[in-house]
Formats: sequence, structure tokens, C-alpha cells
Amino acid sequence: MRIGVPKEVAANERRVALTPDVAGRLVKGGAEVVIERGAGTAAFFPDEAFSAAGVKVSDRSAVLSQSDIVVQVQAPSAGELPQYREGSALVASFQPVPDVLRALAQRKLTAFTLVLLPRITRAQPMDVLSSQATVAGYKSVLLAASATGRLLPMLVTAAGTVPAARVLVLGAGVAGLQAIATARRLGAIVSAFDVRPAVKEQVQSLGATFLEMAIEEHAETAGGYAKELSEETHRKELAFLANAAKDADIVISTAAIPGKKAPILLTAAAVAGMKPGSVIVDLAAETGGNCELTQPGAEIVRNGVAILGPLNLPSTVPLHASQMYAKNVAAFLGHVVQDGKLRLDFEDPIIRDTCVTFAGEVRKS
Ligand code: NAD
Repeated sequence: MRIGVPKEVAANERRVALTPDVAGRLVKGGAEVVIERGAGTAAFFPDEAFSAAGVKVSDRSAVLSQSDIVVQVQAPSAGELPQYREGSALVASFQPVPDVLRALAQRKLTAFTLVLLPRITRAQPMDVLSSQATVAGYKSVLLAASATGRLLPMLVTAAGTVPAARVLVLGAGVAGLQAIATARRLGAIVSAFDVRPAVKEQVQSLGATFLEMAIEEHAETAGGYAKELSEETHRKELAFLANAAKDADIVISTAAIPGKKAPILLTAAAVAGMKPGSVIVDLAAETGGNCELTQPGAEIVRNGVAILGPLNLPSTVPLHASQMYAKNVAAFLGHVVQDGKLRLDFEDPIIRDTCVTFAGEVRKS
């Protein structure tokens, strides 16, 4: 079984799908691993480290055309698909949009996207959404801390006392909980809100206050995700959060509903009610943003409030984001490869949910 790792070509993508440590373990397990020259450089993993781990360093066309499984972070570009070997497998993390799926099926690739992995206990070691959201949640607080004109911790100094900054986290899933933990480590006073009441204890266990709003409907799916709120509850939520945001120096918003546009949680009017100098970091920018004013990929200022809509934050922490991603990929390979061959048991939810193209057909979208 030959596993190939190309260099990521998407703009601003610094991650690499396997690290020397993880690739070396695959080699010890009997696989042949070949990586494109320079693929790990932007994540601080030089070619020499891969070579020392028993990984072959080669050129791009050899990696794409001679591998049984190509592992990468982003989807391949359509222009490069002809270089992938017909019948080979692809493991990456991409949204299953129809154009991409059609192109993958046409090339007869057995393609898996890890963003569709079921959130079940036995899939946790493969869960790229969680590992990368952890990185994004952490980094969002650092972005906010450097964009604000304030210090985060309370300081008692000869030059006076500085009060702790107030951080409000909207959406307490994986990214939100990590943002809470990071803001607490920096000494901020943190409060958080989520429509899923189940997260209250998790928020409190991190030393933050859970903001309570009476929600009469059931806002959680059987799978543990949030549901879209009714119009009336959403209206109430907007008023509730506009009020909560008035006191905040920093708002980190992470609210998402799988497969849907992100819910708006902060209107332009809510931003107008915030203090000048405060900062919003909108982690939902990739799916439209939680703040009405967010411009994905940009930083704007309205009424003295900075609104950051960063894209692909995990790539800005490439070393550890790659390390976690590589472990997820290796766990996934450990599940789907048996005795050097792909095991395509479509009854298995991990394989059924992630395998998007097989034998020239689009399996799911
Ligand atoms: P996500 O990225 O889909 O959403 C982020 C958060 O936004 C969620 O907590 C969600 O409740 C919240 N949200 C959605 N709409 C909102 C609104 N209108 N107002 C306020 N908050 C809103 O979530 P995620 O981080 O991917 O995690 C989703 C769930 O999956 C969580 O329950 C998490 O614990 C669970 N999970 C389970 C596993 C597992 O293996 N068992 C692994 C990872 C995550």
C-alpha cells in the first residue's frame, strides 16, 4: 500500500496531511509513504525529517500518479485531477459540493471527506472537525487579544489597576469551549451562550458564566447538534445577545448549524450598541458569519468596533494543526485499510458517511 502526500496548493494553506512522526509510524506498520518535496516546509516539517522517518521524498507527479491512497488537507483542484491514478483513493477534508464530487467520480477516485465523519465515540480519534476547531478556537482569542487596545488580565500595578477584559463567547461547541479556556488562561472574565442547554455545565467547568435565556423549543438534534431556531425564538435571541454584547470587550462567535448558513447572532444595531474599542472575531465567517456586518476574510471597523472574519484559522497554526490532522488521518487509515487493502464496508457508518465517490459514481452529497 503506497500512501502519497502532496503539497497543499490552496492559497494560504500551510498545513500538511502527514507529519514525519505519524508518517514514520505508518512506515513501521508496513506502508510505503511518499511525500512531495517541500510539502511540510510551511508547517515546519522539513524534507529531511520525513526522510529520517523512512518516508520517500519525491516530485508531485509521482506522488499523485503512483499512490494507492493520496492524503491531503483540501480537495484537489479540478485541473490536477487527471494526474491522480484512476481507481486510487483520496482522503481529504472538503465540503461535498456537487462540482467537486462529479469531478472526483469522473476520475474514478474512491474519495473520502473527513468533514462528514459521524460524531460518534469510536470516530473521535479521526475527527478533523474537532481537532481543527480546537486550534481555531484557541487562535481566535489570540487574534482578539492583539486587535483590542486592552490588556486581558486584571493587573494591579504602581501605575494603577487594570480591570480584566470581558469576553463573550457565542456557541459553546468545540471551538467555543477552547476559546473560553484560552480567554480564561489569559485572565479574562468570560461568559458564554449556546442554544443547547447541555453545554451549560461544560461552560461552567471552564470557569465561565453561562448566560441563560429561556428557550421554549427543543434546540438540539438527536445527533447533539443545534437546530435552526424558530423565527420568534431567534428574534428573542438577537435582543438577548445585543444586550449581552454591550458589556463585552471581546466577542468570539462560533455558532454553526451543520449544512446550513451560520445563524446571525449579532445585528448591525447590536454592534452599534457595543463599546468603541471592542472586538468581534467571527469564526463562522466561512459559512456567512454570525455577525451581520462580517466580511469573510477581512477586518472592518464599525462605530469603533473591529469585526474580524478570519478564514482557515487552523492553517495559521500549521505545526500543531498538521500534527493533529495527521493523527486523525492515520486513525482513519487504520480503520479503512486492512491487510494493505481498502476495506469498503458501507454498513459501517464511518465509511458510509465519509465515502463520497466510488466506482465512478457520486455516492452522496
Ligand atoms: P458546531 O460547529 O456545529 O456549532 C458550534 C456551536 O454553535 C454548537 O455548540 C451549537 O449548539 C451552537 N449554535 C448553533 N446555533 C446557535 C445559535 N442560534 N445560538 C447560539 N449557539 C448556537 O458544533 P461542534 O463544535 O462541531 O459540536 C457539535 C456537537 O457535537 C457538540 O455537542 C459536541 O459536543 C459534539 N461532538 C461530539 C463528538 C463525539 O465524538 N461524540 C465529537 C465532537 C463534537
